[in-house]
This record gives sequence, structure tokens and C-alpha cells, in this order.
Amino acid sequence: MSLSGATAGELLLRLERGDLTAVEITAGYLDAIAARDGRVQAFLSVNRDEALRQATEIDSRRQRGAPVGKLAGLPVAVKDVICAKGQKTTCASKMLQNFVPPYDAHVITRLRDEDAVLIGRTNMDEFAMGSSTENSAFQVTKNPWNLSHAPGGSSGGSAAAVAAGMSPFSLGSDTGGSIRQPAGFCGVVGIKPTYGRVSRYGLVAFASSLDQIGPFANDVHGAALLLEAIAGRDPRDSTSVDMPVPKYAATVDEPLAGLKIGVAKEHFVAGLNVEVEAAVMAALDVYRKLGAEVKEVSLPHSKYSVAVYYIVCASEASSNLARYDGVHYGHRAESFKDMIDMFCRTRGEGFGAEVKRRIMLGTYALSAGYYDAYYLKALKVRRLIRQDYDEAFKSVDVIVSPSSPTPAFKIGELVDDPLSMYLQDIYTISANLAGLPGIVLPAGFSSSGLPIGLQLQGPAFAEERLLRAARMYERETDWHRRHPELPRG
Ligand code: GLN
Repeated sequence: MSLSGATAGELLLRLERGDLTAVEITAGYLDAIAARDGRVQAFLSVNRDEALRQATEIDSRRQRGAPVGKLAGLPVAVKDVICAKGQKTTCASKMLQNFVPPYDAHVITRLRDEDAVLIGRTNMDEFAMGSSTENSAFQVTKNPWNLSHAPGGSSGGSAAAVAAGMSPFSLGSDTGGSIRQPAGFCGVVGIKPTYGRVSRYGLVAFASSLDQIGPFANDVHGAALLLEAIAGRDPRDSTSVDMPVPKYAATVDEPLAGLKIGVAKEHFVAGLNVEVEAAVMAALDVYRKLGAEVKEVSLPHSKYSVAVYYIVCASEASSNLARYDGVHYGHRAESFKDMIDMFCRTRGEGFGAEVKRRIMLGTYALSAGYYDAYYLKALKVRRLIRQDYDEAFKSVDVIVSPSSPTPAFKIGELVDDPLSMYLQDIYTISANLAGLPGIVLPAGFSSSGLPIGLQLQGPAFAEERLLRAARMYERETDWHRRHPELPRG
């Protein structure tokens, strides 16, 4: 059965009415994966048997009239950086090629509690470092809209899986844009929640002061459902905040009266593709027609965000990735002379070029004599970036911008040019540095048929507002109803 394009809400309705069973839905998506993933290569592994077993169990519970979770029977694809007990979690790295976690991440526990079906593990840039999924040690994921283009990264597999109709939703992680940029490239909805909104327990750490887990879906309501399921305090992540989780899915259809939208003048400068700019301007007109007020704001320090981010994230990565020493778990070199040689060979063999580049940059930035000049300075500018937002949000409710300066670039186009690749993150990185939430949703297509993403950023814990504001736009447009042409499952 083809379920392509069905939204999570539509599937839930059909499940509740008894028109569809969890097994039929799961089998439908497994068929879609079988038909399409040979080309898209979004999945690193597919949990066929386990998913069908889980779905069968959910159906029998429903038939007996026993309680089922809020996502009962809906498949979720999970980025291969989030630990699931008994499921290989590789971070797309040779270092963790055979790593099977003995425990579930908090978000996986939450998904199991809500009876979501864990359908498979998605490809990514190694240890979430990259913007194209080309840094995976195993395969290059293709953009479902044009297979010679990148799906974005680092959660490219999760975005492509939803865009290609191989899962109604998925999880990714966003340290500097890794949910939002691929959502924009693939024409799906993606949310980076506020720092502290979702527990990172069981998320393999890249840069701990920036990392957040968030949802992808093919409409705003689906993203609301999934965020609601995973958000909330978890004592195992001390940075997760003890604040009630709003009923995002129940309120998402309520439009916001008197919405004040900020447009940052620094966001519309050289380097922004004209078609992307035109799509954002057209989206602002849609909001104006809906009664919103659009005002100019200023984020004067945003021009430093890429420089600050690549010092902070590399510094934290150099520390976090020190654990891959060949002793505790993961890859270990087969032959070595002594302990130091074992560390060097293990890390030399296990890590790819981009991960090595970050570890070297970060170690340098943190070393005695350079720490003050680089790391400490970056933290000070980070603070100024946050203050810019605080100031802007005194007069507006959300800030609208592109998600990336261009639509999806070609596979191979930027991979040998790290600086251009890093500049891809210009619109997304500041929210991570400031700890703020952002949502990206489809806002049109380029003349060559590639999706264009619109980003809405808000103050801390304003996810409900972002979802409602995003939904106002979505209801007026049909971009999210368009799907790439791929073999049907
Ligand atoms: N592209 C950014 C980087 O390479 C963002 C990565 C992410 O958000 N995980 O670091």
C-alpha cells in the first residue's frame, strides 16, 4: 500500500478509525524504503523484523481495547547518533562501526512509551560534523528532489527519509543547523528546540553546549506531535529544564493574532541567492495578508556567528571525542607498538578527515597561550549574539529568515572547500549559540525544482508560538503537499 505523502495526523486518524493497522502502515513504509532507498540511501540500517513485531504487538493491544501511546503505530526513523538499545549506533563513523548501545537514549524511551515504531537508522555526517551528509564513512545520501544534489546535513538521512515518503517523521540533532538546513534542502519541516527542552541523554555528544535533538515531519502538525513526545525534563541530563511541555499538537491550528515579525537587515546581504530571497519576501507578504506586522530588527553580531561557532564547536568536539581511545569501546587498531602508538593508530584509522580537522582546530583553540585569544574571545562574542536576540525579541515575536543562503548544492560541489561549507550555516548557527529555538518549513521551489526553506526563530521556550506561526503560513500554501517523483512503494 502506498502511504506516500500521508501526514502523521492523517495516519493517526485512520488508525483510530480502524481503516489502517500499525502493521499495514509499517509494512507500507518498509515497502517504500525497499523501492526508493537504493537511490536515496537515507538509511544505514532498517529494523524490518523488529518494526513489524512492534507493530503487531500494538495492533493486538488496540484490538483488546488496552491503552496505546499517542504515536501508536507511526514509524519514526532515527539519526544514527541517538543510542537505541540493541541497535547499531555508528554516528556514520568507522570508529563506532560495530557499536551496539546497551541502553536507550531518553528520546527513544519516550518514543517507545508512546508506541512509535522504530523503523530504521538514518545516515549523517560523521559525528554530526558537516552540512551535506558527504562526511559519512559509509554512503552519500541523495536529495530526493534531485539525486545529484545533497540533502544537506548533518541530519541529511533523516530529512531525505521524510521527503522521500519513507517515514512520516524522523529525529535529527542540531548543533549548528543540522536539522534546519537539511529540512530546507529537502522541503520538509524541522525544529531545533530551545537548549534544555529535550534531554540529550543517549545522544552521542558533539558540542555539548549546542547540541539539541529535534523532529522532522512532512507538516507542522507532525513536527508538533513528535516534539511533544520527546520534550521535557530528564534527571539524567542536567541541562534539561523542568518546565511543563505545552500541548503543541492541540494548539498548532490556532492562528496568532497581532503577530509581530522581525526581519534582520543583516540576513539580506551579498551571498544570498535571489530565488531564496524572493521566496522569503513572498512568505512575508503571506503573513502581512494574515494581519501580521513586519518590522526591521538588527542582529549586529550575527556576522561573527560562523567564526564563533567553529571555535566553540571544535573546542568542545576535541574534548568530547577524546573518549574514542580504543580502550573502552569502538574501533581499536589491530597492530601497534605501544600504548601511544595504539591511540594514534586507532584515532588515525577510525576518524575521517573532517572530524580530524575539528579535533585539531579545537585542540589548538584550547591550548595554553591561545585559549584567551580564541576560545575565551569566542565565548564573549557568543554572549553578544545572545544579547542581540534579547534586544530584538523586545519588539517582535519571531524572526523570519532563509534557512540557508542557497537551495541544495550539488554533491561534490563544496566538499573540498570547508570554508564555503561552513558558510552554509550562516542563518542557523546563531540560534544554537544563543540556545534559542528555530523551525524551518517549505516555502517554495527554485527554478530548477529544488525546495526553499523558511526559518522562524523565537525566544527561549517559544516553540508553541513558532509552531502556530509556521502553521499559519502552511495553511495558506501547498508546498508541503508536493512530493518528489520517486518509485512508489
Ligand atoms: N554544519 C554544521 C557543522 O558542520 C552543523 C552541524 C550540526 O548541527 N550537527 O558543524
